[in-house]
Amino acid sequence: MRKVYNWQIGRNASYIYPENRPKKQWAIIFDLNKCISCQTCSLACKTTWTSGKGQEYMFWNNVESKPYGGYPIGWDLGILSKLGPQEWKGNKYTGKTLFEAADKDEKILYHLPEDADWAHPNLGEDEASGMINQGDWIATYPHRIWMFYLPRTCAHCTYPACLSACPRKAIYKREEDGIVLIDQSRCRGYRECVRACPYKKSMFNVETRVSEKCIGCYPKIEKGEMTQCVTNCIGKIRINGFVSTPDNARKDNPMDYLIHYKKIALPYYPQFGLEPNLYYIPPIHVAPSFLEQMFGPKVEKAMGTYINARNDHELQALLVLIGSTEKILHTFKVDEEYAYGYDEQGKEVVKVPITEPKIIRDYHDAKLNAYRQNTP
Ligand code: SF4
Ligand code: SF4
Repeated sequence: MRKVYNWQIGRNASYIYPENRPKKQWAIIFDLNKCISCQTCSLACKTTWTSGKGQEYMFWNNVESKPYGGYPIGWDLGILSKLGPQEWKGNKYTGKTLFEAADKDEKILYHLPEDADWAHPNLGEDEASGMINQGDWIATYPHRIWMFYLPRTCAHCTYPACLSACPRKAIYKREEDGIVLIDQSRCRGYRECVRACPYKKSMFNVETRVSEKCIGCYPKIEKGEMTQCVTNCIGKIRINGFVSTPDNARKDNPMDYLIHYKKIALPYYPQFGLEPNLYYIPPIHVAPSFLEQMFGPKVEKAMGTYINARNDHELQALLVLIGSTEKILHTFKVDEEYAYGYDEQGKEVVKVPITEPKIIRDYHDAKLNAYRQNTP
């Protein structure tokens, strides 16, 4: 094992290979306060990439309900219960990562779901955390009883477990964008990646006898466009772009702004030690004690920042940019009225009003001789 720096857990950690960061790192941010579990993202992905034979069960993008849902069933509980105490001292994780907790002769601590666990993608869907009493009403944050939706794709990890586990070296991380791919011609279907990935996002195709996983929609990324799951998101909860390490963060990069400056978009099970590149804005109605295990110790602060966004003009502006364009935004700018997004060449690709303009039409349209009703 080598020692590599993992900024998400604030310390050096064990990994099989030396630190080798790509020139740019693909990342997605999800605002969990806005997901409605319509599954449009899942279908956009499925119809684009996994409609072939042997791919029937595959959801490279899935959306599950928390606390009880999961696809495959119990993927998170299975590994969390094996990992043992997951303690933090401030922003430093003092427990063991999955690489550090590996059994002798193993590269990583793993949980392998049963075949049946892949057969019920919607078990636990819409189940709340407890019983709702007759006459209950919601008055405070967090809510006494809660649930929320968790959309997930491969995290194109900085320290991928799938890549480290492959005995064929068939998995690689692209230098230009950090996307993790499986070379289908090198893979022999040993399924070590399926076993190793704690997020269970590498999947075996029984027809082709090789493993497959989310490809980060790299043909779109190469054209400066966001992924299928992002551009098709009905709730406009997602933004796709490139994240920097904290010491190279740029305040005008929308991803860096939300992750490093405002610190409201948090990594997903950072204690696993893979430095995943999925970031979540935590749902403000959910018990922080539950979310802390999922997103680390900065959760409560992030929830407070989100609740106060209405008093933070710049943050509010960036939140309206989420879901406003199909183009990857490399920089953004804000003035009194508008938020602007720019592509890699600095060309303006989107301009969004920060407050929706209010338009009141005349009660009587003289041209059409028609009477109208305005609804607020
Ligand atoms: S399309 Fe967007 S809102 Fe709908 S389930 Fe997917 S992430 Fe949630
Ligand atoms: S989420 Fe899993 S499949 Fe994706 S890069 Fe990380 S370890 Fe590999």
